[in-house]
Amino acid sequence: MEEKKFVYADNSATTRISGPVLEAMLPWLQEGYGNASSIYRKGREACAAMEHARNQVERALGAELSRHEGPTEVYFTSGGSEADNWAIKGVAHSLALKGKKHIVTSVFEHHAVLHTCAALEKEGFEVTYLPVDTAGLLRAEDVEKAIREDTALVSIMYANNEIGTIQPIAEIGAVCRRKGVLFHTDAVQAVGNVEIDVKAQNIDLLSLSAHKIHGPKGVGVLYCRKGIRLPNLIDGGGQERGRRAGTENIAGIVGLGQAIEDACADIPARAARLRVLRDKLIHAFEGFDHARLNGDPVRRLPGSVNFSFLGVEGESLLLSLDAMGIAASSGSACTSGSLDPSHVLLSLGLTHEWAHGSLRISFSDENTEADADYIIQVLPGVIGRLRAMSPLWEKITANQ
Ligand SMILES: *Cc1c(COP(=O)(O)O)cnc(C)c1O
Repeated sequence: MEEKKFVYADNSATTRISGPVLEAMLPWLQEGYGNASSIYRKGREACAAMEHARNQVERALGAELSRHEGPTEVYFTSGGSEADNWAIKGVAHSLALKGKKHIVTSVFEHHAVLHTCAALEKEGFEVTYLPVDTAGLLRAEDVEKAIREDTALVSIMYANNEIGTIQPIAEIGAVCRRKGVLFHTDAVQAVGNVEIDVKAQNIDLLSLSAHKIHGPKGVGVLYCRKGIRLPNLIDGGGQERGRRAGTENIAGIVGLGQAIEDACADIPARAARLRVLRDKLIHAFEGFDHARLNGDPVRRLPGSVNFSFLGVEGESLLLSLDAMGIAASSGSACTSGSLDPSHVLLSLGLTHEWAHGSLRISFSDENTEADADYIIQVLPGVIGRLRAMSPLWEKITANQ
């Protein structure tokens, strides 16, 4: 008998810490316990390790290289959500003092952005939520049209976490620069998958997270271009150049530095390898009975596939796949803990029936072609069994 397989295909949710990242972190979890603010050797070593990680991030993003204790554009946070909150609330509160109380974003951002914008609306800010087309794409012209005299910030995600669509970030950045409006992008899913150059792409603020790129959980970065006034996130000690107080998570920061260096070392080759796995799945299921690919077929993350299968409920699909050793994700209602299916899928114009039957497969460097083959082998049978039990499917097929 074949040994039971396990295929982890939910890398857009989180990733496994890589060997090199773990190795880089280990010394800082025990012997490197010094406080980076202390002046004796143990403290100085921790501080040097942290500043090395900051330089690794700066290089990966094309940010200005900082020196020890000098000005920097890279601030360590507790993750992507914190970076999104800091960027959006920080700019909003700072520019509100100049009468700018309008924000432009899209309907299909991550909740860390959408709920932050909703919180600002309660404070009296106005938010324009731009729609996306059926493939999940925004146009820079639409962003341009939405910008007003009182617009403080445009926040558009680089790549979508559910359907993988990659937005025209350089074009949007150019529009914002021309209009004199600050531009933030949630690049949590994009880092390591597409080449990012904050200067060339006119990105003013950018969020990223370590655990989506084989780094540890609970650590991320806010990039904030030099010269932008951002209120302190946490008042207290002088950590993070006085802007985010609290003794630093050195092991996490070192892990993030290693993860981003590895992820960005050879993006074209890594992306090409991932695209092979992704396109295998796309070709296997594009002609499947009552199935649709969600998101743009080409302008999408190299390792991310999102299909909807009519007559299937996402949660049942995930549980059936789990029983076969496959870990994946869905934008269905139950899995997200709310009655409505994913706002991202609905924003593409999908009906609830289609949105409920969605399946996201997201690969990383650790997946192989055999993983894709196993999913291709298992999935049709699972869908067939679920459809055979579905009253919705019975209705659909009876109408034909
Ligand atoms: C995962 C994710 C986040 C949140 O990052 P955390 O580090 O988990 O807080 C934000 N935005 C996007 C697009 C994500 O995929």
